[in-house]
Amino acid sequence: PLSSPLDLTTIAKGIAADMRDEVQRGKVADYIPPLAQVSPDRFGIAIVTADGQQHCAGDADEPFSIQSISKVFALTLAIGAVGDELWARVGREPSGSAFNSIVQLESEHGIPRNPFINAGAIVVTDVLLGHLEPREAIGQMLRFVRELSGDDTIAIDESVARAEQDTGFRNKALANYMRAFGNLNGEVDKVLGTYFHFCALAMSCRQLAMAGRYLMNGGRVDGHGVVTARRARRINALMMSCGHYDNSGDFAYRIGLPGKSGVGGGILCVAPGIASVAVWSPGLNAAGNSHLGTMALERLVHLTGWSVFEPR
Ligand code: GLN
Repeated sequence: PLSSPLDLTTIAKGIAADMRDEVQRGKVADYIPPLAQVSPDRFGIAIVTADGQQHCAGDADEPFSIQSISKVFALTLAIGAVGDELWARVGREPSGSAFNSIVQLESEHGIPRNPFINAGAIVVTDVLLGHLEPREAIGQMLRFVRELSGDDTIAIDESVARAEQDTGFRNKALANYMRAFGNLNGEVDKVLGTYFHFCALAMSCRQLAMAGRYLMNGGRVDGHGVVTARRARRINALMMSCGHYDNSGDFAYRIGLPGKSGVGGGILCVAPGIASVAVWSPGLNAAGNSHLGTMALERLVHLTGWSVFEPR
């Protein structure tokens, strides 16, 4: 793989220029009203390499709603809190269903397929609330992403959290359904209020790529361990198999890297040992993943050979 700083900056700028000109941009999520206000013209990319260099282009410093990308950070905190006990309450298999699907919960007795679909992340949030109040869990999450990114300006967009609270009927159904199966201990409103605040984190591509460094570096950032190497490896595996809902197979086929998307149009993508990459473009494909973000990552791995399925 090529990796001189000049090459990657040129690549990032070239991809951003190409994406600016794309006509088919996908459809911006509108089921969360504030997200519908974001222009589909936006595109950003940030690449942070293992040696700490940053290569950014387009709207890389514009904060956007990270939405389901927060599921990676919530999972990391929950594994830290309860370790492998977590897996009694959530599975590790791709769902092959939409991010907000309820269908598998019935036959699987309220155990969500994986931590990266809504049902799974709601259980993960409930686990965090096993030892924290909502306010504390939200504070812990905010401190965590600020520390990972090395940026104290990261904030939660309260208007997004409130809009999700007002319109999140499917999430309420998921939470109530799991509670009926005994797989939710907290009060539904408290668990969802916390989950919505995680989803409403606003971060830029640069901040997200910085936050993903622990996953590229075997769990370590700036010489200190965020998680063990084994946990980082396992989180990457889950991102590869489950990070894009019913598009996870297609994402692995096209990009070949662990990645996690959100309906705000962001994708965090990790090339282990090489780079942490974040892209953002609000227009989504049918599975709710960024259309141009996926295309941009496909181009990046084509140009760099970073897919984990390339010989190295
Ligand atoms: N907050 C969104 C929801 O719960 C997250 C979905 C997503 O990003 N795929 O519906």
